[in-house]
Amino acid sequence: MNIEWGNLPFGYFKTDYNIRCFYKNGQWGELEVSSSEYIPMHMAATALHYGQEAFEGMKAFKGKDGRIRLFRWDENWKRLNKSAEGIMMPEVPKDIFEKAVKEVIRLNEKFVPPYGTGASLYLRPLLIGTGAQVGVKPASEYCLIIFVTPVGPYFKAGFKPVKVQLVRDFDRAAPLGTGSIKVGGNYAASLRASERAHAEGYSTVLFLDAKEKKYIDEAGPANFFGIKDNTYITPESVSILPSITNMSLKVIAEDLGLKVECRRVPVEELNTFEEAGACGTAAVISPIGEIFDRSNNTSFVISKDGNPGPISTKMYERLLAIQYGDYEDKHGWVDFI
Ligand SMILES: *Cc1c(COP(=O)(O)O)cnc(C)c1O
Repeated sequence: MNIEWGNLPFGYFKTDYNIRCFYKNGQWGELEVSSSEYIPMHMAATALHYGQEAFEGMKAFKGKDGRIRLFRWDENWKRLNKSAEGIMMPEVPKDIFEKAVKEVIRLNEKFVPPYGTGASLYLRPLLIGTGAQVGVKPASEYCLIIFVTPVGPYFKAGFKPVKVQLVRDFDRAAPLGTGSIKVGGNYAASLRASERAHAEGYSTVLFLDAKEKKYIDEAGPANFFGIKDNTYITPESVSILPSITNMSLKVIAEDLGLKVECRRVPVEELNTFEEAGACGTAAVISPIGEIFDRSNNTSFVISKDGNPGPISTKMYERLLAIQYGDYEDKHGWVDFI
């Protein structure tokens, strides 16, 4: 096996095994190891017709000591069950989830990128309704699958600010809809806005709250944050997916002596931030240099010199250092495989 670890994209790369568990007759079965990349499924499965599909994303890292570290998997487990509850799928017991994530990493150990390459092993758990249903109702059969894929450093060109596009003519999620859970339907709803933004030269979209169109909501597939007056500010909203990266950055911000505010962030406030970024598992932090309001043809320039701000940089480095085992894990976020 000859993998160019430093040149891996953030994309799909075939590994040896995935793990599956099937729910039938009201209970979960045994974990099954598979080397197939395909899922045999009934054509009337609810995942295909009515969007009974939720997923997670997390990473495992190889440290300098050669040991594999998995970051906050229990938070992913809790969130998967919130998603499951939100679209009427069965809860996944903690022991099944834990065994599955750890086993799938061990089975694919040779795909965990070496320390120092900036790469990591991405885990993608998937919970889908596989039972047939034509009327609109939840399935009676489900499948949990976890596959892994090695992913490269998100920023090939280095940790550099990106331009994002604020959109007013699309919504990702409604206030009483499914924005706060990690389901595929939210992504389908965001595709037109995000593909248009890419085509127009922006790395992602910034959505506003769907009801009042006044407050910052989600930054594409990531949470938004702004920094000013030694304070880390991140939007509070019923339609934002609670990012585990954001949850961790709030703690790191406090560790670094910042205040933390989780509250509504009006669009006008964008002008006042000294730094801003989008956060999520894939990139940890994407610093935001400029926000273009597409409908008003105006820009909020955050990074004047084209470089990431000092606080975002420190937070980014600290979180990565904890994940790779280079900095003390004083909050108990890392589990060894
Ligand atoms: C997964 C996701 C995030 C980031 O969550 P992390 O747990 O930090 O990876 C943010 N927003 C949306 C919409 C997501 O689906």
